[in-house]
Amino acid sequence: MVELPIHETFGPTIQGEGFWAGTPVDFIRLSGCPVGCSWCDTGYADGGADLPRQRRLIEDLIAELRSPRVVISGGEPMIHPQLPALVSAIEASGRTVAIETSGAFWQAVSPTAWITLSPKAHISPRYPVVPLLWERANEIKLIIETGAELGYYQTLIKPEKPVFLQPEWSQKEQAIPIILDLLQQHPHYRLSLQLHKYINVP
Ligand code: SF4
Repeated sequence: MVELPIHETFGPTIQGEGFWAGTPVDFIRLSGCPVGCSWCDTGYADGGADLPRQRRLIEDLIAELRSPRVVISGGEPMIHPQLPALVSAIEASGRTVAIETSGAFWQAVSPTAWITLSPKAHISPRYPVVPLLWERANEIKLIIETGAELGYYQTLIKPEKPVFLQPEWSQKEQAIPIILDLLQQHPHYRLSLQLHKYINVP
């Protein structure tokens, strides 16, 4: 009987970001992240010491699922050694799994789990991406404030990977024009908007 510290669960809702935007999903948000992005919209800018951390059994989490696809996010889900067990149990229930990670940590999850790599090393250089994740990631999602983010990672991104440029929500008025310029230079990259925030769902 494996337990994990849970920040919150919710669903059914839609995936608002990246490759699977617009698809129905349930979310499981694991508790905790040490990376410390100043604009963190999940509450971990200061480590989140006072945020929810309820220990839940994997079997109880699976019993609540309603959607065919499950997004595991955080915080940073890869800090939890129980993550591979959670992913495998969800897949065994007939669902697909997507994991959203900064890439600063790695757990040996199922090879069929979709991994969204959203690196934050340009904000917190103490947390570089674990090298294997540049290969293992199924998509790269860069949060854009100034446009310099792309240059920081350009040599590390594999040419075949889908890349999504997403405006940092609080800076989107200035970031969207920057992204439109970047898309002219990289026409195989795509704009990612946080659809869930535009339609007011969690
Ligand atoms: S890596 Fe993600 S969860 Fe962690 S502080 Fe940065 S934005 Fe928040």
